[in-house]
Amino acid sequence: MFGVKDDFPTPGWEERFPEPLKFLPVAFILAMIIGLYLIYTTFHLGPRFEEKTTRGSALLDAFVFHAVTAMLLYCYALCVFVHPGTIPDKEEDPSWDYDEAEGPQPIAADLLMNMQEMKRSGDRRHCKWCLKYKPDRCHHCRVCRICILKMDHHCPWIYNCVGFRNYKYFFLLLLYTSIDCLYIVANMLPTVRAGTQPTTPFMTMFWLMFGETLAGFLGVLVVLFFGFHIYLMSKAMTTIEFCEKSHSKGSFNASAYDRGFVGNLKAVLGENPWLWLLPVGSPPGRGVSFTMEESRLTQDMEAGRNLRRRAHETQTPNTAPKRRAHDRPNACGGTGSTGQSEEDSQSASGSEVADVGSSRDRRQVPNYGAADEGSPQVSASEK
Ligand SMILES: [Zn+2]
Ligand SMILES: [Zn+2]
Repeated sequence: MFGVKDDFPTPGWEERFPEPLKFLPVAFILAMIIGLYLIYTTFHLGPRFEEKTTRGSALLDAFVFHAVTAMLLYCYALCVFVHPGTIPDKEEDPSWDYDEAEGPQPIAADLLMNMQEMKRSGDRRHCKWCLKYKPDRCHHCRVCRICILKMDHHCPWIYNCVGFRNYKYFFLLLLYTSIDCLYIVANMLPTVRAGTQPTTPFMTMFWLMFGETLAGFLGVLVVLFFGFHIYLMSKAMTTIEFCEKSHSKGSFNASAYDRGFVGNLKAVLGENPWLWLLPVGSPPGRGVSFTMEESRLTQDMEAGRNLRRRAHETQTPNTAPKRRAHDRPNACGGTGSTGQSEEDSQSASGSEVADVGSSRDRRQVPNYGAADEGSPQVSASEK
């Protein structure tokens, strides 16, 4: 769809959008876009086209405005319809299949070099709902009811999760929305000022003021949110990882997946810098492994292996205090569209994403015990 190849298996339409009511926020966003579009073209561009003296500049404004708005709408459609990606199915790669009868398996030696996140016990992380082993950075979304690769957050405004395959589109959506809102505010300001004259019809004045205020309000919100995501991208972190790291009171500047500034941009926006600001191309890889030559963690791999061995030898799984999600302050609350209830309880508690592979991260993730495998019911009530 939209020129994006579904190279990998993704859930069908029925599975992805089972509740039509959840399209309401999407309809709300579209209504705002259409409303602002009509106000800008009817009360600002239209009158300037009629005046001979302003026709030239109006043409240029119309071109820029329509180009940015078209990109915004295209990115928005991609965000809604491109699936963020999920764990490979049996046919593609049976090694991710979790056998409930066997129970969680210790991480195999050949996987050790490619994986950073595992349980304190040294076992592979798994999802008890999807019955799959979880790749690094993968979390189960309770709204989408599926594991999401490199999950950032679930966004109700796009009725979709933001993850590995659609994060670039989400990032560009924030970029184009910021530009569009600020453009409307700056470009329409002289018309709004002129509209405050007593001779202006009331409805014209009302809609001009309304459009300017709405664009300004949205602009500030989206620019702040966009700034946060620029920061996250530069640090090679997802929103979930940011929340986990900020909660652990350590420095949340260091990500296990840091490849340096340009490398981090490439990991999100693609390898070709000429295409970074265009909604084309997908990030490199399948989204199940993020270990790179350059990543700082790989440098710690040797040390990490020793730590894992030690953790395995000294683990006492049932004596560690069990940590519950409600003990934890809601560090994710301020990211606009990130809802607290949308992450899986395992990732929210931070207990399962214990990164014993990194001496740096090992310090940052407190040991809450490896036995945090509560039933789905318990997990739901914990939120
Ligand atoms: Zn899952
Ligand atoms: Zn989701």
